[in-house]
Amino acid sequence: MSLAQLLESKFRGDVRFRGLAFLQAERVSIARITPDDLHGVVRDGGSEYQTHLSRLEGDLRMFCSCVGEGQTRDPACKHLWATILATDEGGYLTGTARPGAVPTFCGRSLSADGSEQLGRRRLRR
Ligand SMILES: [Zn+2]
Repeated sequence: MSLAQLLESKFRGDVRFRGLAFLQAERVSIARITPDDLHGVVRDGGSEYQTHLSRLEGDLRMFCSCVGEGQTRDPACKHLWATILATDEGGYLTGTARPGAVPTFCGRSLSADGSEQLGRRRLRR
């Protein structure tokens, strides 16, 4: 399954709707990818939010700068959903995501300056 299919149940429907709008408006960029971490930037109005997907023992932890310090549970905000959709669209997973077995990230399609603007291609889902 795609990362979005794997994580869909963690996000409310209206949050997913707004996250998708960020992708369609080309407001999501992937800043940096390592096998275990994917860092994104989402432009939301006049602000930029840093998102971070991190693999931990086959599971995925999620962080977003729109959540204040001290938040213990994973945030499920529109910025993270936009980043998840961008990850699927860009093909940044090396394999198929399964519960408890999220594959490593790959950055093969990043451009020379280390970033790529997403949202130009049609969503495959
Ligand atoms: Zn956020």
